[in-house]
This record gives sequence, structure tokens and C-alpha cells, in this order.
Amino acid sequence: MVVASRTVAVVGSGFSGLMTALNLLRASDEVKVLLIDRRAPFGRGLAYAARHRDHMLNVRAAKMSAWPDAPDHFANWLAAHADPACPAGFATRGQYGAYLQDLLARVAEGSRATGRLVVIPDEVVDLRRVEGGWDVRLAMGRSLGVRAVVLAVGNLPPRPPPGVEPTALASPLYRGDPWRDETPFAPATHSPILLIGTGLTMVDVAISLQDQAPGHPMLALSRRGLSPQAHSTEPLVPCIEPVEGGSPVEVLARLRREAARQGWRQAVDALRPRTQALWASWSPAQRAAFLRHARPYWDVHRHRLAPSVAERMAGLLQAGTLRIVAGRIRRLTKGDAGLELDWSPRGQTQAISQRLAGAINCTGPAGDPLRAGDPLLDRLVAAGRVRPDPLRLGFDVTDDGRLIDRDGVAAPDLFAVGPVTRGAFWEITAVPDIRHQAVQVAGALLARLSPAG
Ligand SMILES: Cc1cc2nc3c(=O)[nH]c(=O)nc-3n(C[C@H](O)[C@H](O)[C@H](O)COP(=O)(O)OP(=O)(O)OC[C@H]3O[C@@H](n4cnc5c(N)ncnc54)[C@H](O)[C@@H]3O)c2cc1C
Repeated sequence: MVVASRTVAVVGSGFSGLMTALNLLRASDEVKVLLIDRRAPFGRGLAYAARHRDHMLNVRAAKMSAWPDAPDHFANWLAAHADPACPAGFATRGQYGAYLQDLLARVAEGSRATGRLVVIPDEVVDLRRVEGGWDVRLAMGRSLGVRAVVLAVGNLPPRPPPGVEPTALASPLYRGDPWRDETPFAPATHSPILLIGTGLTMVDVAISLQDQAPGHPMLALSRRGLSPQAHSTEPLVPCIEPVEGGSPVEVLARLRREAARQGWRQAVDALRPRTQALWASWSPAQRAAFLRHARPYWDVHRHRLAPSVAERMAGLLQAGTLRIVAGRIRRLTKGDAGLELDWSPRGQTQAISQRLAGAINCTGPAGDPLRAGDPLLDRLVAAGRVRPDPLRLGFDVTDDGRLIDRDGVAAPDLFAVGPVTRGAFWEITAVPDIRHQAVQVAGALLARLSPAG
């Protein structure tokens, strides 16, 4: 196989892949990028393909620039594409997707990148090591010889929750992944629809369902019944020094003290710039303890709802259309007249039985790449090219994003960007974090392509 010596394949064209590709093209006049995605539309990924008016960004527009060195880039774009119906300070995820596609089009059509960005609608099913680079195998049968590869495959599909039996999983009344199956729900009975999970995915799904079947009752269930908090209507400035270090127990104790003193939003925001460094300083046992005990609380305070979305959720709760409960599914199965649920409220042993018009898995992206059932990831693991991190949040990578193989050796030319690097960085799911990583990985990759690299 002939390897094109300055060509890089980027697998995935969501925010992570798109921005790595654009940073590569911006930083070098010689590199050629093959941007490959199995899903249209290019550049939007899973998060920003949303079209619903109430599927809002959960980060203020002022913090969503795709370029770290131009912090107002998105805010300026938004001002030029103003939508009077959109609440000030926040944008819809659909608008953000349009912004990303605009960036892609500008670079692709600009003279600097002429012929150097090739968009390939296909699925990468395998990567094989060849002399001087990689053989990228595509589902449609083509093979591409490239010098380096960046995996930007994004969030992995959710796993079936415990207690959901195969008969329910196979039923058309059950939706296993609301982002990959958006077929509208038309409930045949007035029994509630079960939303499994009470986080951000549940919020989006509850809002979409209400538009499809107004007033239809919904029951949202998770172990603790915690749901996301709202952003303040005005931006807040944290007025404490960022946390410099400490074990998870010490950090959380400080967080509680600061929250009592000046409000939880400022306390969490003051911690945000340090979360990657804190995570890196913790042992695997400390990280596991944080995930076990503190993660659900961290998630609902850290990932917030735009005020207009929070208002809509409050309306649904007040009207009793949505009920959020803490508990666990004992059994979800398919009966003669729909789905049948047995669940126990948190801390109780008795089961409550409930007939359902449907159920939607809103537990959010899965972490464990070994259980994702993804053909490319399974092949890479089987060939020993990659290994999961100790907590199985994603794959093991070096600080500059190079994937580490089964024997602990970092590849010089196989990189990862975005949520699959969560094991190393933890806070690497949102735009403000990934945009920095995209710049770093592009720089590290170009350094290795240079004759001295
Ligand atoms: C519903 C939702 C809402 C979110 N909202 C926000 C928000 O408001 N603000 C924020 O900062 N962050 C938000 N996030 C976080 C989000 O993870 C990041 O902002 C970012 O979009 C992640 O992009 P990504 O490219 O890593 O992943 P993805 O968007 O998932 O893109 C990965 C791409 O890789 C492709 N792919 C995967 N495997 C292959 C293969 N083998 N071959 C070819 N293509 C492949 C997929 O088709 C997909 O298009 C949200 C996430 C979700 C899921």
C-alpha cells in the first residue's frame, strides 16, 4: 500500500474531529486532511444536529467559540445571524451546528485549503499498521493509505439499563438511544412514558415528547432522582481563588464551604479551570471514589440548563405531566398491553407495578469502549492497538493525545480527541475543553509529521 506522506485521516466530523481537521489546515500549508464520517450532516456531530427550538446549548454562547484564540468568534457569528426568538446569552444547538458547518465551508472553499480537505461519507471499520503509516479500511470497501490517524469518534451509545429485559429491548415501544433513533413517539394509551435517567438527555427527550404528544404523562427515574440545575439569568463571576489541589474529599469539602458562602454556581465555576489538573493528580482509587460518590452531584451542578429550558421543565413538573423519582428498575418487560414496569423507590424494597405506553433510555453516553459494540473500536482493541483506561471511561492516551497500546507503548501517529480521552482528562466532553485539545493534538501531530519529528 502507498502511504501519502502528508495525509492525515480524521475519523469523525463532530466538534472534536472537525476542529482537529481545521486546526491542522490552519497550522500547516502542506498537510492534507481526509475527514471521514458515517453520519450526515458533516460537522455537526451528535450534539449539534438537533433541530428542536428548545434543544439549547447548556453553555453560554459567550463561551462557545470554536477557536480558543478568538473567544468572541461564536458570539459575533450569532450576532450576525440573530434570531429574535432565541433568549439572550444562549443559542440553540441547531444554531451552533450551523456555525460549525459555516466554519467547515469557509475553510473548504478558502484558497489556503484548496484540495487539502477531503470529506468522505463512509464508516471506518478497521485501521491496519502499514509501512510508514496506516491503512484506513472503509465500510464501502475502499482503503486509504495515510501517514497518521486521529480518532474523534465521540460519545458512545448508551448501554441497556439493568432490569430491562430482552422482550422490552426488542419492543417498538422501547427506544434504546434517543440521539440515534429520533422516530416520533405516538403513544397508543394514556399510560406514562418512562424516561430512564434524569439528566440532560432526559430534559431534551421530555421536551421533544411534549411537542409530539402534549400533556402525555412521563415518569423519569434514576437512582438518586437528581436532575440538572439551571444557569443564572445573568453571567456570574466566581470570586474565590481557583482550587490548587487536594484529594476528592478535601476538594468537595472546600466546594461545600464556598457554596455556602457565595453560592454553588460560583463555587463550581471556580473549580472548573482546575478539574483536569485535579483529576490528573488523583490516584485511580481516588478517581473511582469520586465517580462513585460525587459524580451525580457534580454533573447536575456543572452541566446546567439554559434558563428558558429550566422554565419549561418547571412548568412540566408543576403541571404533574412529568414526575421525577429516585429508585431502581427491578424489571421492565413487554406485556400484552404495552410495557410493564416494576420499580422500587430509593431505600425501599417493595415494588411498584406500572403499565407504560413506552420507555426511552435517557442514561446518556456509555463510557466503557469494550462494551460499545463498535466494529472499529472492537478491532482496534482485539489487535492491541489501543487499551481502555483503568476506569474504562475511554482509551488510554498520553498528554498530547497519542493512543497507548496493549503493551503500554504510545503510538507516534495514532491520536484521539474528545470524549474517548475522558479517562486521562475527565472534563473533556464540552466545547470549552475540546477546543483546546484540538489545537494541542493538531500541533503534536504536525510536529511528528515534520522531518525532525
Ligand atoms: C445531546 C448532547 C448535547 C450536548 N450539548 C452540549 C452543549 O450545549 N455545550 C457543550 O459544550 N457540549 C455539549 N455536548 C457535549 C459534546 O460531547 C461536545 O460538545 C462535542 O459535540 C463532542 O463532539 P465529538 O466530535 O467528540 O462527538 P460526536 O458529536 O459524537 O461526533 C463523533 C462523530 O464520529 C462519527 N463516527 C464515529 N465512529 C465512526 C467511524 N467508525 N467511522 C466514521 N465516523 C464515525 C459519528 O458519526 C459522529 O458524527 C453535548 C453532547 C450531547 C450528546
